[in-house]
Amino acid sequence: RAKLDGRNTFRFFTPEMQAQSVRALQVENALRRALERGQLYLHYQPQIHLATGQVHSVEALLRWDHPQMGNISPTEFIPIAEDSGQILQIGEWVLRTALTQLKDWHANGFPGLTMAVNLSAIQFRQPQLPELVSRILTIFELPPDCLELELTEGVAVDDPHSAVETMDSLHSRGVRMSMDDFGTGYSSLSQLKRFQIFKLKIDQSFVRDLGEDGNDRAIVSAIIRMAQALGMRTTAEGVETPEQLAFLREQGCDEAQGYLFSRPLPADELELFLRQYLPS
Ligand code: C2E
Ligand code: MG
Ligand code: MG
Ligand code: MG
Repeated sequence: RAKLDGRNTFRFFTPEMQAQSVRALQVENALRRALERGQLYLHYQPQIHLATGQVHSVEALLRWDHPQMGNISPTEFIPIAEDSGQILQIGEWVLRTALTQLKDWHANGFPGLTMAVNLSAIQFRQPQLPELVSRILTIFELPPDCLELELTEGVAVDDPHSAVETMDSLHSRGVRMSMDDFGTGYSSLSQLKRFQIFKLKIDQSFVRDLGEDGNDRAIVSAIIRMAQALGMRTTAEGVETPEQLAFLREQGCDEAQGYLFSRPLPADELELFLRQYLPS
């Protein structure tokens, strides 16, 4: 399809681009019905506190099983939901569903557990976000510090000033924020120091080759030291091997998350995992 962009110029699509845009439209349409048809659900992945081996928090990760298209990755459908605006409704559903689960875990043996929820930059830029988050926490009668909102560096790209304001507002309400995929975005260190960030999550691309790549070791060690100096905690993402874990431990990383400990799991399976990790 050649698309007229309004000024008598054509943009030509290659066959691959055409296939991609057809797929994106299919996904967007299917997503419109996914929530009401109960096709969306959450998996949970534990974050392991390295000093004690305990699980202080779990991250909620969105999953979608479509009857015809099968399992669709959030890396595919989240950007589409962001473009179409559906992310606002989906994001609020994720928040409510994750906190419903947390409430259940608090009442059933894990009173101190914290829930990490990924937030799209589109959600973050809604002026009413801090108010919405507070309202949901109040409805669930949950203390605000049991919620960690995972943001990416993209939240500050367009308007660093309002990003700081929103973070200040969430912080003053007692909600914690993590910087997800840290090191892959464009945030500057001068911005970072003004952000009310509780945790830096070291992107898995730096963790993956810790065994072989001296540069990645230098980067990870520098991120941990910088976070310590700024009073932020660190969580390493994508930890898959004992060697990666040993390096992270030695460098003083606070938490690790990855297949070495557990894949993201359905709530009942995660609960079994948590019971095994209870201090004996
Ligand atoms: P993320 O928040 O950085 O999540 C980490 C991703 O790494 C997850 O992929 C997780 O399943 C995967 N992972 C965890 N441990 C390992 C490991 O040891 N090795 C490897 N190779 N991967 C590991 P997933 O679940 O496919 O999610 C991808 C991204 O989609 C997330 O990255 C997040 O940016 C986004 N996402 C997921 N759920 C939501 C949501 O509810 N809302 C929003 N806005 N974004 C979400
Ligand atoms: Mg995340
Ligand atoms: Mg990440
Ligand atoms: Mg990611």
